[in-house]
Amino acid sequence: MRTALPRLITAMVDRSYRGWRGYGLAVVSVAACVVLRTALEPFGQFYYLPMVPAAVITALLSRPGPTGLAIALSIAVNVSIVPREGLTDTVVNAVLFLAVSWLLAELCWAQRRIHRRAGALARTLADRNAVLDTVLAAVPVVILDRAGRIRRLTPAAALLFGVTNTEAVGSPFSRLVEDFDLQALVSSPADGATEDAREWRGRRPDGQPLLLTLQAGVTADTAGGEDYAAVSVTDVTQARVATTRALELDAQLNRVWRLNSLGQMAATLAHELNQPLSAAASYMHASRRDIERTGPLGESAGRTLDLAKGEVLRAGGIIRRMRDLLTTGSAALELQRVSSMIEDLRPSLRLLGRDAGIEVRIDIDGRADTVLAERIQFQQAVINLVRNAIEAAACTHDPVVSISGRRTGDGYEISVEDNGPGIPANDLESVIRPMTTSKANGMGLGLSVTRTIVESHGGSLRLDRSALGGAAFSIRLPQEERAA
Ligand code: ADP
Repeated sequence: MRTALPRLITAMVDRSYRGWRGYGLAVVSVAACVVLRTALEPFGQFYYLPMVPAAVITALLSRPGPTGLAIALSIAVNVSIVPREGLTDTVVNAVLFLAVSWLLAELCWAQRRIHRRAGALARTLADRNAVLDTVLAAVPVVILDRAGRIRRLTPAAALLFGVTNTEAVGSPFSRLVEDFDLQALVSSPADGATEDAREWRGRRPDGQPLLLTLQAGVTADTAGGEDYAAVSVTDVTQARVATTRALELDAQLNRVWRLNSLGQMAATLAHELNQPLSAAASYMHASRRDIERTGPLGESAGRTLDLAKGEVLRAGGIIRRMRDLLTTGSAALELQRVSSMIEDLRPSLRLLGRDAGIEVRIDIDGRADTVLAERIQFQQAVINLVRNAIEAAACTHDPVVSISGRRTGDGYEISVEDNGPGIPANDLESVIRPMTTSKANGMGLGLSVTRTIVESHGGSLRLDRSALGGAAFSIRLPQEERAA
């Protein structure tokens, strides 16, 4: 009974009779009050009192118009039914009824406004709560008491640690995180988001290691409960694995780069030396013939010259063998997917781009992208082109570098484009020539190493003008069937 009345009032307040329904309501409630009044007549004369509910009900359920009608009808009914002593008495009573009823109606409307506002507030709070619940369900958070024992876990935290709420509640958080020290965490500056935040080792029941960063906030538990700190947990295991892999790949690429550069330099030297050595051999051959012609005096000189000639030719042979070895290479080609090789490079490319403040766009079509390649060598070739593209684009206002890969008729083509100053298409040969560089600290070997690598894969390197405005270097590799 104690709750039934407020509920009835709330239910009534929630309804609203508008337009003709409001006026209908006024007429019906006045009629009901007249009936009530007639029923009460044997007990005495109540004047306007039995009519008050008509005004209140109409005000509660409708608007000022119908409420005015209910008051006016009540006065009319009262005046016509109740005999009065004089006009003054009639008017004074009617005015009093009007004032009291209108005051009650105003109170009803104020109550309705408050009720509506409270409803809107409750809905907003419910929405916020729903959002908070959704966020908390997705974020690993553990609530601890002062002693560092678990009070609650969000579903994401339970999933991360591989435990259920029931198993975990009441146990010390140090069972899930090695050497956990709540006071140290709470008093440390909130630097959980920084890269040098302390990393904690987590334990899962299945033995899987976890690397975590933790951030704690002391809860403002006004209810005097036992919730003390909310610890937000970030799993950095995958990020660490990815960084380690990126660093390893980077080191591997650097090694290959040094080997390739050394090889290229040796090949260049071999090329440069081979020709003068051969010429020297021819001259010595000629001088031996001269000595033979000019007499026996030349016999010993001729022997020495023969020896010199043999040595020089041997040096030439060694150099030629070295060059053959270097240029034909010994890359072990295997079936590889271009998309996977580029995907592996993503962290290194991101690092390269980040250093220059450029985002390297990657768009590789992973369909029919199998080629024969030596993974690291291929990646080295792509990195060389990207490094050049970044350096070329860096001098522009809004630098763009993109790597794209498409299947072409009989092969697969990977293009590295930029919006730098570009290179005239027919200058490819001159920029590729070893030791050609326009950079103060350049070695002028990148493009020639790249071409050597591409050609050792049975492919070709092409230079075009990019739609972005700069250079477009394209590596075309035969498709797997052709290469096989
Ligand atoms: P390095 O980068 O050491 O100079 P490379 O053989 O890689 O050696 O490049 C040779 C030259 O080709 C560079 O110095 C540069 O002038 C030119 N070059 C290479 N790539 C680009 C590019 N994407 N845009 C403009 N010029 C380029």
